[in-house]
Amino acid sequence: MSAIEVDGVEVDTRHWIGGRRVASAATFTDVSPIDEAVLGEIAAGGAGEVDAAVGAARQAFPDWAALPAPERSAVLRRVADGIDARREDLARVETRDNGSLLRSHRRGVMPRVAMNFRYFADHAEKLSRDAPEIRGHRQRVTYDPAGVTAVITPWNAPLMLATWRIGPALAAGNTVVLKPPEWAPLTASLLADIAHHAGLPAGVFNVVQGTGAAAGAPLSAHPGISRLSFTGSVPTAGLVAAAAAPNIVPLSFELGGKSPLLVFEDCDLELAVSLAVEQFDNAGQVCLGAFRMIVQEGIADEFLRRVVERARTLVQGDPRDPDTDVSALVSRQHFDRVCGFVERSGLSPVLGGGPNPGLGGLYFAPTIFVDPAPGSEILTEEVFGPVLTMQTFTTEAEGVRMANDTRFGLAATLVTGDPECAERVSRRLNAGTVWVNCFFVRDLGAPFGGNGRSGIGREGGDWSFDFYCDVKNTVFSPAGWKEA
Ligand code: NAD
Repeated sequence: MSAIEVDGVEVDTRHWIGGRRVASAATFTDVSPIDEAVLGEIAAGGAGEVDAAVGAARQAFPDWAALPAPERSAVLRRVADGIDARREDLARVETRDNGSLLRSHRRGVMPRVAMNFRYFADHAEKLSRDAPEIRGHRQRVTYDPAGVTAVITPWNAPLMLATWRIGPALAAGNTVVLKPPEWAPLTASLLADIAHHAGLPAGVFNVVQGTGAAAGAPLSAHPGISRLSFTGSVPTAGLVAAAAAPNIVPLSFELGGKSPLLVFEDCDLELAVSLAVEQFDNAGQVCLGAFRMIVQEGIADEFLRRVVERARTLVQGDPRDPDTDVSALVSRQHFDRVCGFVERSGLSPVLGGGPNPGLGGLYFAPTIFVDPAPGSEILTEEVFGPVLTMQTFTTEAEGVRMANDTRFGLAATLVTGDPECAERVSRRLNAGTVWVNCFFVRDLGAPFGGNGRSGIGREGGDWSFDFYCDVKNTVFSPAGWKEA
């Protein structure tokens, strides 16, 4: 069977290569986290399908790259319109596939997915510019499309994370091969339909379904790709980097995190508590999550009391129910991994600490541990579940040191009532994004990325085009022109 019905929406389970659906003899099973029901068998691609997709993308590249930017952008705006028109379908399928909240998709995520095309379509039309003159010579900077972009993405926000790369890559004039996550492969297939109906030419956008080892690895190693954007875990990033290295392919890596929530005693306590409880969103399966609460001693007891009290009011359950705040973990394998972290910590939780007894399945209860030993696994490794830790500090210097005591550097959230403290401390935090008295506010024009183990490079606004393009400087001498 080449199509399945997912909560009333028909989804094609085959690859999308060169403008047509392609099946594979092998399949993998897609399971919903909500109730562990089998959604269907999905085409499992390998080196052959990857080769075909890269070939199709290379063939489509010259014509797509040669289109004037406004014409490419017009097609991408139609893709955005198509996403808007199918917002409800996309939301329902994403929720069923990865267990994230339906209400979040309806309100925020899917509109943002459309924006990922609209914003970069607009931006691509304004790329060329003059650089400062050098000794009377004019300098012009232009952005040439690089070629085929490989995009490999994780399951925690599949369509959002894929389109945040596909948008600028296509707007720049590249063609794309997407390898979606095997734990949430379905919305990528719907995106292929939408792009096709919007008039994106055959081969400009391709989807190869499959596991990381069978499909992701040959895509990373393929000599026909010119850029590789990978979002996922640190261990996989190491494999991807090694595979791409012989071809000298530029990489953009958005990896994991273990971000701090640094709370000063002069803060608005209710705001700090809200920001802490927000970390249970998407059952903690958020790369940016501020899972290490680091709180100044004077307010620590009261802060913890209120966080626990508020977290107890969170409703856990089916993500399709509008009242649900916290859903399930994405898969049995991931659920066992989170349980392992919690068991090995040896700590007594002040909240949760295991599967939600009333729900069973893959529902892990919001959990808080206090005072883990410095350097312990629960404090240093990315759990990627609804598990927060709390530590206390006395001086500003100590708080900053604890916040920066990580190999990651994706984000940091700082809560203080003192603008001077915010100014000082934000400059000293080691993170690609620092939020002061807020969380998750993200502009598509701003640089996004991580330090250390959290990634390589920045995307967003000009930074995306710096990556997806071959940036060229042309220097014009004032001499040598023939008289008109
Ligand atoms: P993962 O690394 O296991 O998989 C990510 C993708 O890589 C999947 O599509 C997978 O199939 C593929 N893959 C696996 N092995 C591969 C290989 N050998 N070669 C090529 N591709 C391969 O990560 P995950 O479990 O899907 O996602 C969770 C991770 O993603 C977390 O670490 C999270 O922090 C990170 N993440 C980061 C960001 C960010 O923007 N920084 C955003 C979301 C998630």
